[in-house]
Amino acid sequence: SAAFSQAFLDMPRPERPLKVAVIGAGLAGLSCAKYLSDAGHKPVVLEARDVLGGKVAAWQDKDGDWVETGLHIFFGAYPNVNQMFTELGIRDRLQWKSHSMIFAMPGQQTADGFQRFSRFEFPALLPAPLNGLVAILLNNEMLTFPEKIQFGIGLLPAILFGQKYVEECDSLTVSQWMKKQGVPDRVNDEVFIAMAKALNFIDPENLSMTVVLTALNRFLQETHGSKMAFLDGPPPTRLCQPMADHMLARGGELRMEQRISEILLNDDKTVKGLKMQDGSTVVADAYVSTMPVDILKLALPEAWRPMPYFEKLNGLNGVPVINIHMWFDRKLTTVDHLLFSRSPLLSVYADMSLTCKGYRDDDKSMLELVFAPAKDWIGKSDEDIIEATMGELYRLFPNELSKDGSGAKLLKSAVVKTPLSVYEATAGRELYRPVQTTPVSNFFLAGCFTKQKYLASMEGATFSGKLAARALCDAAIAGTVPLQKESSAVAA
Ligand code: FAD
Repeated sequence: SAAFSQAFLDMPRPERPLKVAVIGAGLAGLSCAKYLSDAGHKPVVLEARDVLGGKVAAWQDKDGDWVETGLHIFFGAYPNVNQMFTELGIRDRLQWKSHSMIFAMPGQQTADGFQRFSRFEFPALLPAPLNGLVAILLNNEMLTFPEKIQFGIGLLPAILFGQKYVEECDSLTVSQWMKKQGVPDRVNDEVFIAMAKALNFIDPENLSMTVVLTALNRFLQETHGSKMAFLDGPPPTRLCQPMADHMLARGGELRMEQRISEILLNDDKTVKGLKMQDGSTVVADAYVSTMPVDILKLALPEAWRPMPYFEKLNGLNGVPVINIHMWFDRKLTTVDHLLFSRSPLLSVYADMSLTCKGYRDDDKSMLELVFAPAKDWIGKSDEDIIEATMGELYRLFPNELSKDGSGAKLLKSAVVKTPLSVYEATAGRELYRPVQTTPVSNFFLAGCFTKQKYLASMEGATFSGKLAARALCDAAIAGTVPLQKESSAVAA
């Protein structure tokens, strides 16, 4: 990824820099704009909202507390995101946690009445894949030895046949793959329900096995692949703003609260301009959409819809998810890490007052929890969602929370619903993910749903933006992007 970044700086400076309208200031849009500016082009980023970040957006409530769209974890196996932090000089903002995966054991308590956790500890001195294998072998609370062996045998084809096999497994759900490979149901119930919910907010009966194998592959091949970090504060200020500042310093532009309402076409079906919601038009040499796939589908011009490239997008749909914040009047846990809840309604959670320097509080807890699958809950009221979450928390914190109100008190809560978030990675979706180069010579796509090997994630979004920037720069060098007559993008 460092060499890929360097290539933008090493490209011959364009005689006439392209004005590129980048739609969306999420990680894909900001990454694309950053690398276009590194290559000497002029991105104009158009963001519909008044906050940067898209699915990593965050804002302050009336008390000044931050509310986030999602609890976000960075992995060692995110080369392009980690490289981005390095290039922006902000590596110290990633707070790396111990190399462990920690699963709650709901309903089980320690001798002194506290919630029990089961840990997979990756020994620091061993390289991959040995560190992962030792972590799995030493954990005997969740899986028995014979179950581990059966799962290991099931994984053999993935080890032997590599990426080709991983891709072929997209036709199977996690549950179907487990059955086919003779892996006991308990492995699915104990580990993979939690994994599937964390990876794509859905259950193993629906999740494509490719997603799980892709994650396992990275974790087993890279010594620090499964190491996790929390950002030290809200993503818009701690990550997105430095990305924007980088391209602004190189002649780029950022226009907030600029929602595009229509893509206007020339007779040859290339893009003529973008009609904005305020009635203005933005004209550029080239256009990159990083809008989420559901919004992109609605924005597609009629003339593009029959094209097989765009028609395929109908196979992708966003998955609902809910992010919950709960502020308690005292500390609920001392675990400074991501926790897999293994409870029916919740996925992962963390006490952000411990895990995130910017949200630190020595006396109180702020739990951030991902509520998934959220299909049956997305339409319910915040009160219903918080009540259901409290039901789960009584089991997760048996010593700290009590139904009679004698334990920790909930001070306030915030519920953020994203009805259509990342694309739902059900079996068979890989076929529908578009590459960044479209059949339209001045229109490119980025976004975590577009084709790249890091799935729907911050890494996937950042990498997709970089790939789109590269495709555009290459097209500019090849002279295949039709240039506008004026030498600048015009807002008329
Ligand atoms: P987006 O972030 O959706 O950006 C698209 C942008 O386009 C938005 O800013 C939007 O406002 C803008 N836009 C839309 N329509 C228009 C329009 N008409 N005009 C102008 N602008 C427009 N990933 C991880 O790697 N680790 C995690 O732990 C993790 N946890 C998550 C938890 C939750 C609850 C959620 C929702 C996501 C999580 N993700 C995680 C996934 C990650 O957030 C996304 O994959 C990534 O942020 C997507 O970035 P993107 O740029 O592709 O899309």
